[in-house]
Amino acid sequence: MNNKVAIIGAGYTGLSCAKKLSENGYEVTIFEKTGEIGGIAKCIDYNNTKIEKHYRHIFKSDKYVIELLKDLNILEKLHWNETKMAYYSNKGLYGFGTPFTLLKYEPLSFIEKIRFGLGIVKLKLVKNYKNIEQFTAEEWMKKNCGAEIYHKIWEPLLISKFGSRKSEISMAWLWGKINLRSSSSTIEGERLGYLDGSFYVLTKKLEENLIKNNCKIKLDEEVISVRKDKNNYIINTSNNLEKSFDFVVSTVSYNTSKKIFKDLINSQEKEKMDNLEYTSAKTLIIFSKKSLTPYYWVNIGDNNIPFGGIIEHTNMINKDKYLGANIIYISNYLYNDDTLYKMSKQELFNYYYPFLKKINNKFRKDDVINLECFEELYAQPIITTNYSKKCLDENLQEKGIYMATMGQIYPEDRRNELCN
Ligand SMILES: Cc1cc2nc3c(=O)[nH]c(=O)nc-3n(C[C@H](O)[C@H](O)[C@H](O)COP(=O)(O)OP(=O)(O)OC[C@H]3O[C@@H](n4cnc5c(N)ncnc54)[C@H](O)[C@@H]3O)c2cc1C
Repeated sequence: MNNKVAIIGAGYTGLSCAKKLSENGYEVTIFEKTGEIGGIAKCIDYNNTKIEKHYRHIFKSDKYVIELLKDLNILEKLHWNETKMAYYSNKGLYGFGTPFTLLKYEPLSFIEKIRFGLGIVKLKLVKNYKNIEQFTAEEWMKKNCGAEIYHKIWEPLLISKFGSRKSEISMAWLWGKINLRSSSSTIEGERLGYLDGSFYVLTKKLEENLIKNNCKIKLDEEVISVRKDKNNYIINTSNNLEKSFDFVVSTVSYNTSKKIFKDLINSQEKEKMDNLEYTSAKTLIIFSKKSLTPYYWVNIGDNNIPFGGIIEHTNMINKDKYLGANIIYISNYLYNDDTLYKMSKQELFNYYYPFLKKINNKFRKDDVINLECFEELYAQPIITTNYSKKCLDENLQEKGIYMATMGQIYPEDRRNELCN
């Protein structure tokens, strides 16, 4: 039986893929570049407990992760928490996300609120994203909500996620995002899931499951290339390890995969991969004596502020779990040539500080207990128009290369539908 599988990457995709394959009799080896498993979802130690290096929660529509928790017998660790959302415009901080908060949202006039609401209703009537994927978010929103609403609400959000590429983003992406958030919302607000003990509990359980199923997890083993030798795939790693497999599953970005598989893909496939691009992300964690805002999630709609969101974890989970520290993630999607991407955690905090004070003038440097900072090079696929036609990988599968990456999850980076 051809059953030796190599999986590249030990993030949640690689780990869950290894679980499924090993349960179905495959002999699985995972190669992970870093010294730890978990990828973007990795946790760090803080005051004898664990906390995610980037904010993380579960939406009600995240059915696969909920199934996974059930399968691993840890569903009881999942709790749904009331979370409040806000929007920071150049006029200040306002609650957002419910009909009631919309009524109180001062930056929009009464007529604009009605147009905004009608635009959302119109969007909810779109059942298939393929009917709107040919439009940019800018075109669709301007046409259906008006240019004012686009400039006041949607454009700043597109800028905070995609920067200079904002006008290229497909309406299908925004449709996915809006649907995702509304899947966890009620008339009173949002309820988001978090695991008692952090996502470390899930990572650990996955690891235990893989060990039980005899999977091999090779850490600090960066895959450099894959070549074919008769019917086998030869994996070559940074430590000059050479191993032969029947199949290869790559869970890393297209950018990395096109280098790894350069001897196996043709120029058209390479060009296709070249066109699938990503933004990077840099997250600053502020452990603070004081809270910054009363909200869990604040979208920054003022583009003079150099970050895109504030996610205050301890406005979802009681801060007693962290010895009273408030845990505040400052989220920033940017490109890796941005000077902010290269800044140290202290430089970044100093740069952000005047803007944090603008949002809450009572916030002081003395309030900071600790800082941490993490970056991801391939954080968010850039979803341009007609993306479903761009991300097909069928021809790669015919060659025995299986791709399972964030870039294939479309129209939104965490929903259930794969683009092929
Ligand atoms: C800031 C941020 C917040 C997010 N929050 C959420 C959230 O709340 N909920 C949610 O569902 N999703 C969230 N996401 C999306 C998240 O990325 C996915 O949920 C998931 O963690 C991605 O897992 P992955 O395994 O596909 O990729 P990754 O986690 O990126 O894993 C890829 C792994 O491959 C390894 N690797 C790379 N190159 C090589 C190589 N050459 N050889 C060997 N190994 C290699 C990497 O080190 C990494 O461990 C968030 C993303 C970001 C950027």
